Amino acid sequence: MPSTYTAGGEYLTPTRIHADRAAGRLEIDWADGHRTVYETVTLRWLCPCAYCRGEAGEPGWLDTAPTLTPDQTRLVDVQLVGTYAIAPTWGDGHHTGYYTFEQLRENCPCPECEARRVARAAMER
Ligand SMILES: [Zn+2]
Ligand SMILES: [Zn+2]
Repeated sequence: MPSTYTAGGEYLTPTRIHADRAAGRLEIDWADGHRTVYETVTLRWLCPCAYCRGEAGEPGWLDTAPTLTPDQTRLVDVQLVGTYAIAPTWGDGHHTGYYTFEQLRENCPCPECEARRVARAAMER
């Protein structure tokens, strides 16, 4: 997913990734000073794996709008994948979703990033 916004590596370089299991949040600090905080439920819905998203034109599990159980939105662990992604492990054992740093930054739920996405969508129309 190319984006002029993400030109320049500091936007996509996490300096700190912190899974706050008690609060049910994942916090990411970026090298440009931005902070991204995901509720784990939001993060679970973004799972990019083939099972959740589907492949070859087939809908994935999340496309069926399932009711997520507390286990399925409980963050158990977060592994770093190389230098480009993280792989969360969920309470139901699901761990096949590799969330790239670009995806995590692009989908940052903070008001500032939300406004940026709205502005960009308007420009592309
Ligand atoms: Zn998945
Ligand atoms: Zn943001």
